[in-house]
Amino acid sequence: MPSLKYEVGDLLTRASRREFLSAEEGVFLFENAGTAELMYVGNQIKQHHVPGNLVTWIIDRNSNTTNVCIANCKFCNFYRRPGHDEAYITTLEEYRQKIEETFSFGGEQLLLQGGHHPDLGLKYYTSLFRDLKQMFPNLKLHALGPWKLPT
Ligand code: SF4
Repeated sequence: MPSLKYEVGDLLTRASRREFLSAEEGVFLFENAGTAELMYVGNQIKQHHVPGNLVTWIIDRNSNTTNVCIANCKFCNFYRRPGHDEAYITTLEEYRQKIEETFSFGGEQLLLQGGHHPDLGLKYYTSLFRDLKQMFPNLKLHALGPWKLPT
């Protein structure tokens, strides 16, 4: 069995000491650490910043980038195949309305999620994020989060 470049335990120990990990080390943890271990260390770091059982929150709004998706998850009732009559990509004007509404209710963050549209690549999203931040410099964007199956 080939030896791994890093040790999960060493990286988690360093993370729990709030030492900065490299992107490569982060990817290694993403691929090799158990979900429970990551949650445990995440909570340790949270305890450092906000001790005790206090949990803080912000007001944000979920907004779908597109309902077009080719992933075909069995449970999903949201997605539409490319070319479907109900397929959409959210426009900048629609984002503007949603963000202004969010701000009017004291919100500060937009959580973007959506389908795997085969024609929307990284350039589309980087342009979208740039446009949104130009329109609303104080907006917090919560988008494109990594996701992994529980281990
Ligand atoms: S929209 Fe999300 S949940 Fe639905 S099929 Fe696509 S990836 Fe799966």
